[in-house]
Amino acid sequence: MSDNIKKCVIIGSGPAGYSAAIYASRANLQPIVYTGPEPGGQLTITTDVENYPGYPNGVQGPEMMEEFKAQAVRFGTEVIFEMITKVDFSGPVHKIWTESGEEIQAHTVIIATGASAKWLGLESEQRLMNQGVSACAVCDGFFFRGQEVAIVGAGDTAAEEATYLAKLCTKVHMLVRRDEMRASKIMQERVKNTENIEIYWNTSTDEILGESEVTGVRVINTKTNEKSEIAVQGFFVAIGHKPNTDMFKDWLDMEESGYLVTKPDSSKTNIEGVFASGDAQDHVYRQAVTAAGTGCMAALDAERYLAAKGII
Ligand code: NDP
Repeated sequence: MSDNIKKCVIIGSGPAGYSAAIYASRANLQPIVYTGPEPGGQLTITTDVENYPGYPNGVQGPEMMEEFKAQAVRFGTEVIFEMITKVDFSGPVHKIWTESGEEIQAHTVIIATGASAKWLGLESEQRLMNQGVSACAVCDGFFFRGQEVAIVGAGDTAAEEATYLAKLCTKVHMLVRRDEMRASKIMQERVKNTENIEIYWNTSTDEILGESEVTGVRVINTKTNEKSEIAVQGFFVAIGHKPNTDMFKDWLDMEESGYLVTKPDSSKTNIEGVFASGDAQDHVYRQAVTAAGTGCMAALDAERYLAAKGII
C-alpha cells in the first residue's frame, strides 16, 4: 500500500474534529486535521461555555478549543490550516482536495465540518453585511458600544447574544417571530430580566434600513400587519445554522436540510470508510459535548474499519 495514502483525514476542527483526532492519534492512525475556514469551529466565536463537563467554573470557548487542539497534537495529530473544497468518494481510496489544489488520498475520512449561521435572505441584509449586519455578537458587538442594536431570533443563540449585547449597547431590540421563544427557560429568564432588552413578539423583519450603513430596521407585526421602524446602528442575525455539507452532496446521503445521514448507532455514512460526526450530522442535540462524543465514535469506527481491511 502506498505510503502516500493517509490512514485518517479529519475535515473540521471543532469539538467533533479534535475529539476524533485525539482518539485516532492515540490509536496510531496519524490523523491529519484540516481546520477549515473557522479553526476551532463555532465555539471560537462564543464566550462562556458553562455546560461542558469538567469545567465547573465555565470556560471561554476559544480557550477550550485551544485545549482540544493541544490534546490532539500531543498524541501526534497534524493540524493543517486549510480548507477542503472537493472530495471524490468513488474510492476504495478516498480523495480530497485542499483550497490550494493539493490532492490527498486517505483510507478513512472523518467529516466534522459543523454548521454555519443562517441568514434571513433579504437584499438589504446582503448589502449591509459587515456594515452593521452581523451573525456574531461576540465578534462584532464591540463595534456597537454605546449604541442601539436589533437582534432577530428566539433560540439559545439569540438569547445568549442579546444578553451579551445588552452589556455593551444602550438598548437591544429583540425581534421574535412568534409569541414565544424557543430558548431554554434559564436563557429566556436572563433576557426578560435584562432591563435594556426590549422584546417584540410576533415580529418579523421587513427590511434593514440604510444605504451604506445600518440606520434602522423596518418590522412587521405578524398579527396586525402593522409596519414600524426602529432606529438601530447594528443588526444581528441569530436564527440558527446550516450544516456545512454542500461538497458532499454528490456522494453522501443527507437529509433535505443538508444534515448527513449516518447508520443507526454508528458514525458510518453510505460510503465505506467515510464517517460523519458533530453538527454536520446531528440536528437534534447540537452541543459541544455531543459533537465530541460523535467525533470519538467516528475515530473508533475508522479504526475498526482499517483493522478489518488489514490496513492497520
Ligand atoms: P435554533 O434553531 O434553536 O433557534 C433558531 C431561532 O431562530 C428560533 O427561535 C426560530 O424561530 C428563529 N428563526 C428561524 N428562522 C427565522 C426567520 N427567518 N426569522 C425570524 N426568526 C427565525 O438555533 P440556535 O442557534 O439558537 O440554537 C441551536 C442549538 O444550539 C440549540 O440546540 C441550542 O440549545 C444550542 N445552543 C446552546 C447554547 C448554550 O447552551 N449556551 C448557546 C447557543 C445555542 P421559531 O422558534 O419560531 O422557529
